[in-house]
Amino acid sequence: MSDQFDGGGLAPDDIDDTPAVACSQCDEEWALDYELDTLRVGNRAVERFALDHKRHAGHFPDDVQPWCVACAACPDGDEFLTERPARRWAETHARHTGHEVSLGHADGHETTIEPER
Ligand SMILES: [Zn+2]
Ligand SMILES: [Zn+2]
Repeated sequence: MSDQFDGGGLAPDDIDDTPAVACSQCDEEWALDYELDTLRVGNRAVERFALDHKRHAGHFPDDVQPWCVACAACPDGDEFLTERPARRWAETHARHTGHEVSLGHADGHETTIEPER
């Protein structure tokens, strides 16, 4: 069974070869044929779309639960699709600034990255 991006309420009949992603902030929906045909990212099309959407539109589309990093001491922070780059951002920020950084996921998981001193 796949647990990734199942879109919530799709009936089995609605699933065809081209996955689609919706964004309620943009009030748009995209078929991922560009990602599949031009970028050729295959089964990472949804992930690629999410990262591109974040980079260009400034937020993730629906059904993406990003990892969020937020500094406790300054307004810096970011969002990532997976834990590893989020944790790396937090550790790097803490290392260079001496700030505490919180690392949290939409599922409620949250930790604090402390600067090494
Ligand atoms: Zn959007
Ligand atoms: Zn900071």
